[in-house]
Amino acid sequence: MAMTDAPPRYKKILLKMSGEVLMGDQPFGIDVNTISRMAEDIADVVKTGVELSLVIGGGNIFRGVSLAGHGMERASADYMGMLATVMNALALQGALEKIGVYTRVQSAIPMDAVCEPYIRRRALRHLEKGRVVIFAAGLGAPFFTTDTPAALRSAEMGCDALFKGTSVDGVYTADPKKDPNAKRYDQLSYQDVLAQDLRVMDASAIALMRDNQIPIVVFSIRERGNFLKVLRGEGTYTTIT
Ligand code: UDP
Repeated sequence: MAMTDAPPRYKKILLKMSGEVLMGDQPFGIDVNTISRMAEDIADVVKTGVELSLVIGGGNIFRGVSLAGHGMERASADYMGMLATVMNALALQGALEKIGVYTRVQSAIPMDAVCEPYIRRRALRHLEKGRVVIFAAGLGAPFFTTDTPAALRSAEMGCDALFKGTSVDGVYTADPKKDPNAKRYDQLSYQDVLAQDLRVMDASAIALMRDNQIPIVVFSIRERGNFLKVLRGEGTYTTIT
């Protein structure tokens, strides 16, 4: 794959992916080939010396709103969703360590036998040492998705950008999978996203990034090599500042 040697545009970033990207072409769960490919993409970025944290959703396994819609108490359903993110974090950790990337999983809900608890200063130290820190279990609180924890952790880690890996290459005027006339934005303001309700991430996450002046880079995580490419400022993506 042709790639230039343009330097990474940021030094410390957090990548947020939805759990669905782990499904590959399956309707549910984790596709082994997809998670291995994703690990390779992450390894390429780590090799550039960028400090990298990850937040992965749980939608490929369970989302609180789905059972809450069928009469289950929302808070309990959301705790199940948070546990789903821990499963994904462990799967990603396994895939990364298999190819020699050092990782730590830190959970917002302490589960000592499984991973570390979230401790901000310890996470910062891991990043300094070149380890990838995977933040699991969201905020540890119901009534959120993993967007807000991704934003919060990126602010806590002092990241200079939040990367949002999706299945499309940026933010569009309409859903590009349904509307052939949909146009991609190169650049948007936080206010545009909030006022036009563009649904890039939850409003609480956008507002937190706005208040801390952390740019959000929306890009496609589906093609091999694209994460590094976008980090170098190449290819197509949308930046929200
Ligand atoms: N969740 C939560 N609090 C959090 C983060 C996640 O309650 O701080 C629950 C919520 O039920 C959510 C589920 O975990 O639906 C999985 O996360 P998300 O929906 O963000 O997964 P994604 O859509 O990104 O795969």
